[in-house]
Amino acid sequence: MNLKIFRKIDKIKVYLDKIRSKRKTIGLVPTMGALHEGHISLVKRSVKENDVTVVSIFVNPTQFSPNEDYSRYPRKEKEDIKLLTKNNADAVFIPKAAEMYAEKFNTYVEVKDLDKYLCGEGRPSHFKGVSTVVTKLLNIIQPNKAYFGKKDYQQFGIIKKLAEDLNFPVKIIGCATVRDRDGLALSSRNTYLSANQRKSAPLIYEALKNIKFMIKYCNFNSKKDLNRIFRSFINKIPGSRIEYFEIVDRDNFSPVELFKDSMLIAAAVWIKRVRLIDNIELFRK
Ligand code: AMP
Repeated sequence: MNLKIFRKIDKIKVYLDKIRSKRKTIGLVPTMGALHEGHISLVKRSVKENDVTVVSIFVNPTQFSPNEDYSRYPRKEKEDIKLLTKNNADAVFIPKAAEMYAEKFNTYVEVKDLDKYLCGEGRPSHFKGVSTVVTKLLNIIQPNKAYFGKKDYQQFGIIKKLAEDLNFPVKIIGCATVRDRDGLALSSRNTYLSANQRKSAPLIYEALKNIKFMIKYCNFNSKKDLNRIFRSFINKIPGSRIEYFEIVDRDNFSPVELFKDSMLIAAAVWIKRVRLIDNIELFRK
């Protein structure tokens, strides 16, 4: 089947109205492009669960602060279109920034509190930008289901809350993190890493797995000790700096004591100018 390419909101709406009039279901996979197997796992799940799968590719300016990598973020439209065709997506929505944000655009969506922790601390307006663009995409596409990766766990949680609070008739689905063979979570930003940096980057996941083991099977309950262990792994990555390492509640992302039944162990690590995030869920029972 041919992948339909839309760049204008009006045009994709007409296409989707026709789909809906035939009572077909729609799955949405929002992305910023430079697609890899992590994104594709979401596309495959949507193709399986819906009649029509729409993928959006939009490097959203409002979720980057001025000192971040908006302009150098990888853009690979041709390769993305090929990959989506190969994986049976039905339509791709690739709007320009001006299409999504008209000149006098002045409305933002903010999910309170959940954005205070983890990535929200170091990137204060990031989730406001994400929530705003996802709200717009949910309104434009009106999907039955929308798919988000747990690699960006906080983003997934915030979008789930947003959809609930604003009564969007959509099911928000979280999908498992896809990793390279050596454990590094796939990310479009991995392409920024030099060969040497790439070699040591899997230590982030190694560290998280070790921390999980310590809590679950060795009954470690001192955050200070766990911090020290995490640091000992990350220190082996040349040029690395820990932005955060936290053990939090999986629903509201506030730091927790270590005897909770279900937690999220999450970290953001800089390797020189490259920021990588990863996390691991921990269930005690
Ligand atoms: P991005 O293009 O980075 O905004 O990601 C688009 C969607 O793909 C988000 O829901 C991400 O969480 C998801 N995603 C990115 N990397 C992975 C991965 N390694 N495994 C699973 N989902 C991912």
